[in-house]
Amino acid sequence: MKINRIKDNDIANGFGITMSIWTQGCPHHCKGCFNGETWSFEDGTEFTKDDLYYILDNINKHGIKRDLSILGGEPLCPENIDGVINLSKTFKEKYPEKKIYLWTGYVVEEFNEIQKKVFEYVDILVDGKFEQGKKKLSLTMRGSSNQRVIDVKKSIEKNKLILLDIDNK
Ligand code: SF4
Repeated sequence: MKINRIKDNDIANGFGITMSIWTQGCPHHCKGCFNGETWSFEDGTEFTKDDLYYILDNINKHGIKRDLSILGGEPLCPENIDGVINLSKTFKEKYPEKKIYLWTGYVVEEFNEIQKKVFEYVDILVDGKFEQGKKKLSLTMRGSSNQRVIDVKKSIEKNKLILLDIDNK
């Protein structure tokens, strides 16, 4: 798994404050992507144990209660998925009360068996590629109206896809 950056205090990607990690490398190449520097699989740095411990040790730094957001790039592509699962699992073992948010360009109905493992750890998942023709600036936590904000825990509980209607559409 490669990463582009870690941001200690992020108020744009989740409800409240999150520590956010951008994975490096994206196969989707959505037209109009605002995050083009995360596309290349050659750039970025390997996610190390030090990065993992940094997240675990600093998630409550200065008394601020943060959740964790995992963005991209593409966290669930073959190059990054194992690292993302390991990070999510380790994080939830230490902080079961904290939320994990995850953004992916894949849609959940097409997840392979490995990608489905993130359902065990992720609370809120935003899926789908950015579609420029469906771009809407007023949307919360996503750029285009095809993207869905999925309540993973409730979806598992109800055995059907439960979306968060955060924009009162
Ligand atoms: S999936 Fe995300 S990072 Fe990848 S090209 Fe699309 S908008 Fe950009």
